Amino acid sequence: MQDLKELLKKNYENILTKLQKACLKVGRPLDEVRVLAASKGQSIEKIRTAYELGIKLFGENYVQEGEAKIKELSSLEIEWHFIGRLQTNKVKKALGLFSVLHTLDRYELAKELQKQADKLNKVVPVLIEINIGKEPTKAGIKKEEVEEFLEKILGFKRIKIIGLMCLPPYKEKLEEVRPYFIEMRKIFDSLKPYLGEDFKELSMGTSHDYPVAIEEGATIIRIGEALFGKRECKL
Ligand SMILES: *Cc1c(COP(=O)(O)O)cnc(C)c1O
Repeated sequence: MQDLKELLKKNYENILTKLQKACLKVGRPLDEVRVLAASKGQSIEKIRTAYELGIKLFGENYVQEGEAKIKELSSLEIEWHFIGRLQTNKVKKALGLFSVLHTLDRYELAKELQKQADKLNKVVPVLIEINIGKEPTKAGIKKEEVEEFLEKILGFKRIKIIGLMCLPPYKEKLEEVRPYFIEMRKIFDSLKPYLGEDFKELSMGTSHDYPVAIEEGATIIRIGEALFGKRECKL
């Protein structure tokens, strides 16, 4: 157990050091960037350990897996975000478990969110997922279609759009990922005047590329394996 704590502590400190360096390099205040621990495929024990190290924000990709963990850890003050692809038939359940959705990627999902949140008398904070690399295998709205998408969902009063999220193509060389993050920032800046105060999050950067994401404006980095080590349990 002590070994696990030591390992995660070392990993977390390493992440925080790189976060600080990236912020310093571009003159951003440290408190502008939050670390979200992407805990899919990671054990309850590891999540608990990360929490003890001071991480309070976690993200899960699957409703069922998330539900089990959230229930098990209900005594901890964790903020749970949903970062996976959300099926419309899971929306109702997801709304009862997670406080923020990072992956609004289609109109059908927006419609269902509006419907279920209305029943619960809730407002759901969401980020719009952008398929920034235009990859056929990835979810998300194409950048050329974001404005049109926004127009279609702005009438949904139960949905509060708080930012943008992306998962760019994997590139061995980090400098090759940078243009995608820059593009995200541009899209964010262009939408900001229309979306106002609430619109403030850029969820981008994972274990491999988070320092670059921070340099280009990320406010939430989603870190899995660099914190927890290799994913184990496939639930
Ligand atoms: C798994 C996952 C992450 C974390 O990936 P790592 O490479 O383990 O850091 C971040 N974002 C999303 C959407 C994920 O599915």
